[in-house]
Amino acid sequence: MAEENYRTNLTFDAADEYRPEPTPAPEIPAWKDGSIRIGIHTSIAGDISGALDIAHGLGANALQIFSSSPRMWGHGGSRIAETDAARFRDRRKELQLGPLVIHSNYLINLASPNPVLRTRSIQAFHQEIVRALALGTDYLVIHPGSGLGATVESSIAAIVQGMKQASRGLKLGDLRILLENTAGQGSSLGSRFEELAAILDACPDLPLGVCLDTAHVFAAGWRIHTEEGLQIALRDMDRTVGLARVAVVHVNDSKTPLGSRVDRHEHIGKGLIGLKAFGRILNHPLLAKCAFILETPIDKPGDDKRNVAVLWKLTGRVVRATGAGMKPRPHKGSNVRTKKTGKRAGKRSRGK
Ligand SMILES: [Zn+2]
Ligand SMILES: [Zn+2]
Repeated sequence: MAEENYRTNLTFDAADEYRPEPTPAPEIPAWKDGSIRIGIHTSIAGDISGALDIAHGLGANALQIFSSSPRMWGHGGSRIAETDAARFRDRRKELQLGPLVIHSNYLINLASPNPVLRTRSIQAFHQEIVRALALGTDYLVIHPGSGLGATVESSIAAIVQGMKQASRGLKLGDLRILLENTAGQGSSLGSRFEELAAILDACPDLPLGVCLDTAHVFAAGWRIHTEEGLQIALRDMDRTVGLARVAVVHVNDSKTPLGSRVDRHEHIGKGLIGLKAFGRILNHPLLAKCAFILETPIDKPGDDKRNVAVLWKLTGRVVRATGAGMKPRPHKGSNVRTKKTGKRAGKRSRGK
């Protein structure tokens, strides 16, 4: 039965077939499920992964952190060990927290006219990006900077060049760099949306966006405490940077008046913007895709929990905190001395 043997030999064994594995679909993080994201700037003191548990315990489902000391220049020691970064990424996935926002060091000034400070700023921002990538960050927030008397055009050119230099050689992947609007204190750039738009437009190859701080926009003169004023602010933003590029809203009430150009954060509903206005902001259809991150002060224990709960309540949900929350924080760090007393100008919240 030669013919039959021949056939047998050719019997097709399915196991021999070469089947290339289908390319796995990119994993969509659980936090991108379209649900409203409410977070708070959370302390990394002690252990960076601890920030995740603090935020989760406060009832937040998103968070912002500093990835190193925000008022000190890192000297090579600011790298995060891969074991710590891996633990952070794993824990974040378990808690389904997102987006993860990192606020850059306050000392960074890419527009500094001092060449030493500018070089140091570019190096420090490069390290910010490296740490952000290691932690699997979604958004890295930076203040545009201050040209200290230089023209707006040359300051913007310096910022653009600095951002390009700082990100050179790095694959940014899903990380987006967000420029934060400012109150316009001193000669700081970014209180005018046109300035932010000019930077964005000059960097088409970088994944850039905008972070809108409510206290800053109010201090810069937009009447966001009224319904009409909020519409005007959003229209102005859309016409310049484009609302599609606004990814994060820093939700802070303001201690200082409309147009004061002074940046002092207050608890939600206790400042001059007011609770009703925050209800409109959190539920505004044009901001529906934004994450809302608190940078409110912690004057007494529980302030962090209360502010998170207030935001949830404004969206119509009750979310209870399960954790202990953060310790009250002295408002340190302000180097502004008052003219009359020469004393430090007291209270100032972190995470401007
Ligand atoms: Zn800020
Ligand atoms: Zn802010």
